[in-house]
Formats: sequence, structure tokens, C-alpha cells
Amino acid sequence: MLPDREVAGLKCSEVLEHLSSYFDGELERERRAKIEAHVSGCDVCARFGGRFADAVKALQRTLEARTEVDAGVLERLRRRLGAEL
Ligand SMILES: [Zn+2]
Repeated sequence: MLPDREVAGLKCSEVLEHLSSYFDGELERERRAKIEAHVSGCDVCARFGGRFADAVKALQRTLEARTEVDAGVLERLRRRLGAEL
């Protein structure tokens, strides 16, 4: 049985239930954001997601990469602002 954990207000079972809709782009923005928050903070989904496990891992990699890009952009912006102020 899937060890159900609650992360970011969603349980693993709810995330896995909605994951195919997520990848199909059928979810509203708020639910997408919650699923992303859950997946990036949950290793249970990646380990016990069954046929979704690979999708969860791919999503985690995507989210990680995006965070790094965002951090880099923020850092450059901050430096530029600091130079101009
Ligand atoms: Zn989970």
C-alpha cells in the first residue's frame, strides 16, 4: 500500500490520482501549483508512485532545474539593481 503523506495540503494518493490530468494540462493553475509543491517536497510519490514513479521523478528534475534558473535570474537582477542603486 502507498504510504500516504500530506505535503503542501495534498496527499500522495490525491497527487497520483490527478497526475495524468496534470500532464495532460487539464488542471486549473491552483491545483497544478499544489501538485508541483507536493511533488518537489515528497520522495514517497517518487518511490511508491507505481506507473507514475518515473513521471514523478521527471517532474522533480524539471522543477529543480526551473528553480535553479529562477535563482540565477533573480541573482543577476539583484546584482544589476545593486549596481544601479
Ligand atoms: Zn507524495
